[in-house]
Amino acid sequence: MKTAKVLSTAALTIVFSTLATLPAMAAEQPVSPKAEQSIQNSLPNVAILATGGTIASKGAGALALTDYGVGAGQKPVGVQQLVDAVPEIQKFANISGEQVFNIGSSKLSTQDWLKLAKRVNELLKSPSVDGIVITHGTDTLEETAYFLNLVTKSNKPVVLVASMRPATALSADGPLNLVNAVALAASKAAKNKGVMVVMNDQISPAFGVTKTNSTNVATFKCPDTGYMGYMQNNVPYFVSSPTKKHTVNTEFDISKLDALPRVEVNYVVLGSDGKLVDAMVKNGAKGIINAGVGHANMPNDVNKSLAEAVKQGVVVVAGSRVGSGMITPLNKFTKEGYVTAMMHNPQKARILLMLALTKTQDPKEIQRMFNEY
Ligand code: ASP
Repeated sequence: MKTAKVLSTAALTIVFSTLATLPAMAAEQPVSPKAEQSIQNSLPNVAILATGGTIASKGAGALALTDYGVGAGQKPVGVQQLVDAVPEIQKFANISGEQVFNIGSSKLSTQDWLKLAKRVNELLKSPSVDGIVITHGTDTLEETAYFLNLVTKSNKPVVLVASMRPATALSADGPLNLVNAVALAASKAAKNKGVMVVMNDQISPAFGVTKTNSTNVATFKCPDTGYMGYMQNNVPYFVSSPTKKHTVNTEFDISKLDALPRVEVNYVVLGSDGKLVDAMVKNGAKGIINAGVGHANMPNDVNKSLAEAVKQGVVVVAGSRVGSGMITPLNKFTKEGYVTAMMHNPQKARILLMLALTKTQDPKEIQRMFNEY
């Protein structure tokens, strides 16, 4: 089976080959120099940071829709091949590419986040980068998007993109998603919008987006916020802007961090007791997100263990496994010293709590952050 079509294009070759001959710029500094820009055109410059995922995966044939990638014995696709396969992106921007990782997004770590975020901030400081596209797996895409939304120090567009089908699949969704991502990152309208996800022609805010289906291409939904806009013929049409604080307006600074505090998620089901919570505390958790039922409800034994965790200095956030809706600070939570998750799902609450704990352990301050971000 033929894999993703690889076509070299003049413009891309110029950027990559110039980099190869510029001693001052390391291989991981693919930003087009100013002179390069004038050689090419007046298009914006978009850096593509590739991290892996299905968009960079191949299967054994056109109908290998769910069995593909490293697990199916197939090598991942590198950034150059990914970019070369979709020459249409060069209609929208001068492209440079960089391989940050090449793994499934379920294998990424919080250390990887720090590395990626530092690189994003470094690139965005350069006047010769107008926007960034990050190719990523869909499994944890909403988490990386929200993390970057809180720690990116620029109002230039940062767009995460992925695919549900591998590059070799019949009706692969990666190529058009990538074109839309580049067009969005290159667009002036996408400035000041926080970190965005573009998939299936829909533009989602990092705060609101979540993966809702394990295989369908229409997997990304925004249950509480709705989509922020739509791509039509590769042009972004925005219908709203994020109201939560993001990027340049956050108080989080990861530039000097080399680790994030340990925050666990406790998933509550009928009949849960507090033993998992006890084990989390014993294993050094600095924070716990309780993914309770309904409006953050939980069995009494779970509540007992969480209240004990608070006494031991662990910050507890009362959240919900429901997937949408708001958890507000009712007396039953505040009397135990719990923060409430507001509109953050458990995986996003974990990110905000990790960053909050780099600043403070005061539940009132942390509740303020859960209200604002
Ligand atoms: N396994 C993939 C990942 O890296 C799934 C995907 O990208 O759709 O998350």
